[in-house]
Amino acid sequence: MTTHDATQELLHPVPDEDGAPFFDYAACGELRVQTCTGCHEPRFPPRPCCPHCQSFDSLWTKTSGRGRIWSYVLPHPPLLPAYAAQAPYNVILVELAEAPRIRLVGNLVASADAALDSVDPVRIRIGAPVQAVFHTMPGGPTVVRWLLERP
Ligand SMILES: [Zn+2]
Repeated sequence: MTTHDATQELLHPVPDEDGAPFFDYAACGELRVQTCTGCHEPRFPPRPCCPHCQSFDSLWTKTSGRGRIWSYVLPHPPLLPAYAAQAPYNVILVELAEAPRIRLVGNLVASADAALDSVDPVRIRIGAPVQAVFHTMPGGPTVVRWLLERP
């Protein structure tokens, strides 16, 4: 684990109108996905219209927060300064247990508020079960991060 300059901030997601509920639920410690009330298909990213049945009606379904690592990358510099300070870290793509067609991008970390490089990359395996945790960024939104179910 490396230390980094606290004056350098990681980029905050900027939720749009359709995506705002995702971050609102995350702030409450819930991973929810937008789900069509017409055909019951979950969808991501959030958007007004269902791509399967064209319904404009949806609700936000609570998930268990469980998933599996579908893929990952280990970014190396050149990176923005706040990211370079923590490189090499990981960016994982998580396939949700209840909605395997939905894959969320995030970071695998040792705890919700740990640094991006808090998990040794040699421990990352495609297919490994993970669990969502919630990290409130300094002065920003709450983002979903991931813990290995079997650290
Ligand atoms: Zn639909």
